[in-house]
Amino acid sequence: MTIRPIPLRTLVSAIGLSIAIVTAVTVPVAYFAIGYSSVARVLDFKADLDARQVSKYIYAHEELWQFQQVRLIDILHLANGEENEVNKRVVDSAGKIVVDERHPLAAPLIERSRPIVVRDEIAGRVELRASLQPLLAETTIVGGLSILLGMGVFFAVRVFPLRVLDQTLGTLLRTNQRFDAALNNMSQGLIMIDKHQRILVCNDRLIELYRLTPDAVKPGSTLDDVLQFRAARDGLPGDLDRLRNTIRLQLGSGAASTFILETTDGRQISVNNRPMPNGAWVSTHEDISERRAAQAEISHMALHDALTNLPNRRYFQQRLEQHFDRRERDQKFAVLCFDLDRFKSVNDTLGHQFGDKLLLQMSDRVRECLRDGDMLARLGGDEFAILQDSINPLTDTSALAARLNEVISAPFDLDGRQAVVGVSIGIAVAPTDATDSHELLKNADLALYRAKADGRGTYRFFEPEMDALMQSRRRLELDLRNALASNQLELYYQPLVNLETDRVCGFEALLRWKHPEHGLIEPLDFIPLAEETALIVPIGEWVLRTACHEASSWPNDIGVAVNVSAAQFKNQNLALVVTSALARSGLSPRRLELEITESMLLANTQTTLATLHQIRALGVRISMDDFGTGYSSLSYLRSFPFDKIKIDRSFVHNVSSDEDSKAIIRAVTGLGASLGMITTGEGVETQEDLDYLRREGCAEAQGYFFSRPQPASEIPRMLGMRAEKPKAVA
Ligand code: C2E
Ligand code: MG
Ligand code: MG
Repeated sequence: MTIRPIPLRTLVSAIGLSIAIVTAVTVPVAYFAIGYSSVARVLDFKADLDARQVSKYIYAHEELWQFQQVRLIDILHLANGEENEVNKRVVDSAGKIVVDERHPLAAPLIERSRPIVVRDEIAGRVELRASLQPLLAETTIVGGLSILLGMGVFFAVRVFPLRVLDQTLGTLLRTNQRFDAALNNMSQGLIMIDKHQRILVCNDRLIELYRLTPDAVKPGSTLDDVLQFRAARDGLPGDLDRLRNTIRLQLGSGAASTFILETTDGRQISVNNRPMPNGAWVSTHEDISERRAAQAEISHMALHDALTNLPNRRYFQQRLEQHFDRRERDQKFAVLCFDLDRFKSVNDTLGHQFGDKLLLQMSDRVRECLRDGDMLARLGGDEFAILQDSINPLTDTSALAARLNEVISAPFDLDGRQAVVGVSIGIAVAPTDATDSHELLKNADLALYRAKADGRGTYRFFEPEMDALMQSRRRLELDLRNALASNQLELYYQPLVNLETDRVCGFEALLRWKHPEHGLIEPLDFIPLAEETALIVPIGEWVLRTACHEASSWPNDIGVAVNVSAAQFKNQNLALVVTSALARSGLSPRRLELEITESMLLANTQTTLATLHQIRALGVRISMDDFGTGYSSLSYLRSFPFDKIKIDRSFVHNVSSDEDSKAIIRAVTGLGASLGMITTGEGVETQEDLDYLRREGCAEAQGYFFSRPQPASEIPRMLGMRAEKPKAVA
């Protein structure tokens, strides 16, 4: 779209030049003509006057007037006064010059003559002539001025308007170029049509968008031409006539409209039509395929898990809500929440990439168990959920749970490495167990919690009591957070008796919680909760400090044993905590003993062993507690040089009447002796228990037979105790 100023410039130039030339020529020519006629008139008049005077004179002096030259000259002078510019002469009828007053005049000259009529006869002639030079000189001056005027006119008519025109056109041109640049660099295609659907403007982007040619959309072509061009080249997304109709209807409505157009190559173009005041239309076209794809990708990502591509918690929750909203009468559906048992150890031992592989394989296996309409989602980590549609909970859901257990418990082959995990499943059924999606998911979670507590590898349906239990657990957790700060925790001590000397050689510190409402709470009722909530870290630290502080006031040969949880090892500064507790109390490290259980070695082996070695390097002794209750006790004994093995009380009590226990105790004491570890029998309640342990070579014993755990204030009394004379303590 370009405006061409050249013809206009030529026109203006031609007009300007013509006017200037006409001005420069006409004025002097006119001036000369007017001047000439005026001189001629004056000469005519003078000649007339002179002829009359001379005629009068001749009338009076008829004869010999030709010889009265002096008189005639007077008459001529009298008539016109002294004139140098005009020459006069009088000629008689015979053509003889009577008076000649002529003197030389500068050429060019103008001449006039008049007859001298006397009594109706021509007696002669008066001839006058004058120089035209003054007139020519004036005309020259006027001509010069006219040229100046012509130049002025030329400037006024050509140069000035063209300059203004140039400026205006320049501005217009620049504006137009900017407009062009803006138009052609738009990310949107733009087309402007008049009320007859003729194209007024169309930018490059539109040409590119519909794979047109500049010729197909040149100003003047119609929308229909463009449609036909497209139909011929790429084909149209629909029928040509139908498209024409749609366009006609839309433009006919006179209202702005927006719609999405699909091209034959599958792109989506957003079209926006806007009417203009004079019946014209502006239509913008934007390829939104990528944006839509990105949006779809983003919304997919927002609702799916990146690893398994399964729906995530948010999506699952949405689907649940929809299910509640659209549920038909009597229609039931179930949520099965499940997580993997021992998945953490797969991650820890094989690495996360194998953990990821396992999750992928597992989701494939689970998907195979589902029916159309069911949904599997990953809620996070190793936590999954299934929405089971339209069910009979007792048959369908139990069957699915059993099947899940079966497929998930089967070994996984992770690039040649085998891994086995289990699954715990919690089930809640709508609408019986919940009235909304959140409650349903929460209750399935509670059931899962119960399934795990009941020994994993199993499934549990939600029961309302679970909720009550969970509530009380939550209250307990809140209370426990408060317990440390409110001094509700206390250490009890249970003596450890040396079976060689029959004297108390140390005490095990055992935690008690004096709850303001519930009274004394045993550790087994709150330590697991403290471990789950990581409250065990500050509590364990307090236990260590308090036990060390207490023990520092005891006789030098009496040691103190402190129980340490696995959760405390996750917090890697346990060695520092031990060092600081020893330093503060001034207790010798060799009087401190830490009791750990096998479960600790099960989790996070490398770091745990490193920390144990650090602590042992301080001189602190390490005991294996509750030995015999774990999984593969013997290998754990090899993994760390324990100072002591504490045989679990389940083997010790009533050992004399249980052959299996006898065998185990014998084996462990033998093992301890050969590995250079002391063995301690826990749970000695009777003389028989004690006797048996003594016979088998146990070095130490602990149990109600000697004393129940007692507050610190009882320590002096317990120190006086002997193995053979147990004091009954309430
Ligand atoms: P444990 O370390 O094996 O402690 C011995 C448990 O056996 C104590 O129970 C003790 O009262 C009980 N016991 C001792 N002799 C007998 C007996 O002759 N017969 C019977 N039936 N039981 C006996 P308690 O105090 O209830 O502690 C239970 C467990 O709680 C402890 O087992 C220990 O694992 C844990 N625990 C206690 N205090 C702490 C602590 O401060 N930190 C940590 N992490 N765990 C602790
Ligand atoms: Mg213990
Ligand atoms: Mg024990």
